[in-house]
Amino acid sequence: MPDIQRNPTRPVKIGTITIGADNRIAVQSMTATKTTDVDATVALVNLMQDAGADVVRIAVDSKKDAAALAEIRRQTTANLSVDLQENYRLAQVVAPHVDKIRYNPGHLYHHEIEKHWQEKVRFIAGVANDNACAIRVGVNCGSVDPAKKDKYDNEDSITPMLESALEHCEFLDSINFTRYCVSLKDSDPAKVIEVNKRFAAKRPEIPLHLGVTEAGMPPEGIIKTRIAFEQLIGFGIGDTVRVSLTLPNKRKGEEIAAGHSIVEDIYAGRVRSVVTFDTNTLNIISCPSCSRVENEAFVELAEQVKEMTQYAKQHAITIAVMGCRVNGPGETDDADLGLWCGPKVVNLKKGTEELGAFGYDEILPKLKDELDKIIAT
Ligand code: SF4
Repeated sequence: MPDIQRNPTRPVKIGTITIGADNRIAVQSMTATKTTDVDATVALVNLMQDAGADVVRIAVDSKKDAAALAEIRRQTTANLSVDLQENYRLAQVVAPHVDKIRYNPGHLYHHEIEKHWQEKVRFIAGVANDNACAIRVGVNCGSVDPAKKDKYDNEDSITPMLESALEHCEFLDSINFTRYCVSLKDSDPAKVIEVNKRFAAKRPEIPLHLGVTEAGMPPEGIIKTRIAFEQLIGFGIGDTVRVSLTLPNKRKGEEIAAGHSIVEDIYAGRVRSVVTFDTNTLNIISCPSCSRVENEAFVELAEQVKEMTQYAKQHAITIAVMGCRVNGPGETDDADLGLWCGPKVVNLKKGTEELGAFGYDEILPKLKDELDKIIAT
């Protein structure tokens, strides 16, 4: 059995649980139903709670979502976290109904652009304080703070993420808000390992939420995540985890089961250490979906893409399949071919060049044409 010395992180209370310090590593997930569909969302929250979720996150993008969240709160005992997008002011409406608020530093530039991000974070922290909520500063590779991104070479995607997280921690500390954790997510497990190790070396006392974003479908998505978690949790880094898998809602409990089994295996010494992720083969990344999905055909499309592209297995090509128009365009930027789903069409792009939007029944042959062109070159 490995003797894992956890980093001495500070405790952060989230509803009935506490992460950090010597508390066990918590496992969490996120709903993918429409937040306004209260019955379906409550059913999914309960399914996740029954599967062992310590916290369940729900996206809120509008006042209607916020009103639905108040009703969801009444119908479940789960610890709830809200995922805020651009509209940071919604924090005030939802905070009384949740235990944690997640904001993304890269999304604080879209609303009220004349205001500095510090003012917006001060607002969110004030609301969190008044409602006994924790905060997660959730930095994501697909939506990094543009001011940080501009400072570095395009090849270096890690330093801007790290700097953004450190800057937000310093600011929260300066206003005496310490009930927070941080996440630094990327779809590449190697980058997740590096950025979290660098962050933990600088701020070992801040609890970390670990995850490989858009890990894809099982079993590959679980394997990618396991590789990253082994290299971090095995070295004492990480206080809560999420395994992001592209799955239909009724199978979302598998994310929780995967999270628990990865953590248990690491503590029992059942690891595949020194495994480095092989990036010299076809890499399909796909998001776990959330309430922002506008066409449920997304999950099936992700499965069809995986099947259709098997013939290109030996090529070092990355294809990203994203569920929505909110984060899809940004989060496909680093892929060779990217797809993101709208209500009626699927958008296709090659690198950063947009190739157009195609019907759900037209997209696979279009994708194949582009894939063949890349293979030919
Ligand atoms: S890409 Fe869109 S649908 Fe997928 S998890 Fe992110 S926000 Fe949700």
